[in-house]
Amino acid sequence: MSRAIISLNAGSSSIKFGLFLLTAEGPVHAAGGKLEGIGTAPRLIVRDQDGVVLAQRNWPDGGAMTHEGLLDDLYHWADAHLPHHRIVAVGHRVVHGGTHFAAPVRIDAAALEALEALSPLAPLHQPHNLAAIRAIAAMAPDLPQIACFDTAFHHDMPAVAARMALPRAYADRGYRRYGFHGLSYEYIADRLGAVDPALAAGRVIVAHLGNGASMCAMRGLRSIDTTMGFTALDGLMMGTRTGSLDPGVVVHLMEQEGLSGKAIEDLLYRQSGLLGVSGVSSDMRALHASNDPRAAEAIELFVWRAARHTAALMAGLEGLDGIVFTAGIGENDPVIRRMICARLAWTGIRIDDAANEANEPVISAPHSAVAVRVVPTDEERMIARHTARLLGEAA
Ligand code: ADP
Repeated sequence: MSRAIISLNAGSSSIKFGLFLLTAEGPVHAAGGKLEGIGTAPRLIVRDQDGVVLAQRNWPDGGAMTHEGLLDDLYHWADAHLPHHRIVAVGHRVVHGGTHFAAPVRIDAAALEALEALSPLAPLHQPHNLAAIRAIAAMAPDLPQIACFDTAFHHDMPAVAARMALPRAYADRGYRRYGFHGLSYEYIADRLGAVDPALAAGRVIVAHLGNGASMCAMRGLRSIDTTMGFTALDGLMMGTRTGSLDPGVVVHLMEQEGLSGKAIEDLLYRQSGLLGVSGVSSDMRALHASNDPRAAEAIELFVWRAARHTAALMAGLEGLDGIVFTAGIGENDPVIRRMICARLAWTGIRIDDAANEANEPVISAPHSAVAVRVVPTDEERMIARHTARLLGEAA
C-alpha cells in the first residue's frame, strides 16, 4: 500500500485539492480537483494526473452544505476510491502566518489558536483555511496536518520594504507589510531556477494575476518587495478587491458616509475591483466577452495599475531583466499580457505576438530588453513538498 498526502487550498466558495504519492523522488501528483460552488450548488470534479475524470458529483440542493460537510464527503471519497493508498498527512495553504510563522509548521492546538488570531487580517481566506484544518482534525484526530503560509516567502524582505510609515509603536504590534501569494512565488522561483538559471540570478518581477492578484520583485529568486502588504487588499486591482487605495477614502467612508467597519470590509474586499468598476463581472473572461463599455474601462484600469506597480517594483530592483506571468489571467490571457507589456514599452520590453497568443513559455521577442515568460503556478505541489519535508520524506 503506498502512502499519500493530500494538499488543500480552501477558499470561500471553492476548495482545490491534490493527492500526491510519497516516493523516493519526492511527492508525485496522482489526482486532484476542485470543489466549487460552496454556498450555492456545490460540485466536485476529480481528475487523475492525465486529466481523466475520476469522479464527478453535484449537490443541486446543497446551498446549505458547509465546508466541513463537503470536506467530510471528500475525505471519505478519497479513502473509498483509493484502496491502495493510505493518507498519512494533509497539507494546507494558510494565507497569513503573521510575524511568527516564517516556515511551514505542523499544526497543534497552540498553532491553531495563534493562526485564528490572524483571521481579521485575511478575512476572505484565513477563516476558510482554518475551518478545513478543524474539519480534518474532527475526522482524523491523529493525522498530521501541516500549515504552509503565503506570507513566508516574503518574511526576509528588506526591512525598508516591509516597514509602514506609521508611528514606531505600531510596528512593534505587528503592523508591517507581510506580502502574500508566497506559495505561488516559491514554486515559480523553483521552476525559474530550473528552466532559466541566468534569468533566475537577475532582477525578475513575477506577476501572479488571478482572482487575487499581486506582484513580487525577486533578486536572485528572493523576495525584495511585493505589492500586497499588511493584508491581501493592497497593490494591484483584483477580481473584487480594490488594491491600493488612498487611506483617506476609508476615513471618509466612515466619517461622512457612516459606513461600519464590516460594511467597508465588504466594499473593499467583495464589491470592488473588476466587479465594482465594470458592474458586469469579477471574471476576466466575462469582461472580454462583454460589450458594456464599463467592462473595457475595468480592463483598462487593471492594466494601468499593473504597469504602474511594475514600474514601482523596478525602483527597488534598480532595473529589470525579466517578467514572469502566472495564475489564471497571467497564464491564459494574451490580451492582458500584451496590454501590460505595451504600457511598459519604455523599458525596451517587446512581445512576440505569435508566442504570446499561443501561451508559450517564452513570449518576449528575441530583441526584447526584458525577457518575458509564462510559467504555470502550482501551489498544491508546493504544499505537498513542504508537507513531505516536514514528515521527514523526500521532497
Ligand atoms: P484564484 O485567485 O481564484 O486562484 P485563478 O488563478 O483561477 O484565481 O484566476 C481566475 C481568473 O483567471 C479569472 O479572472 C478568469 O477569468 C481568469 N482566467 C482563467 N482562465 C482564463 C483564460 N483561459 N483566459 C482568460 N482568463 C482566464
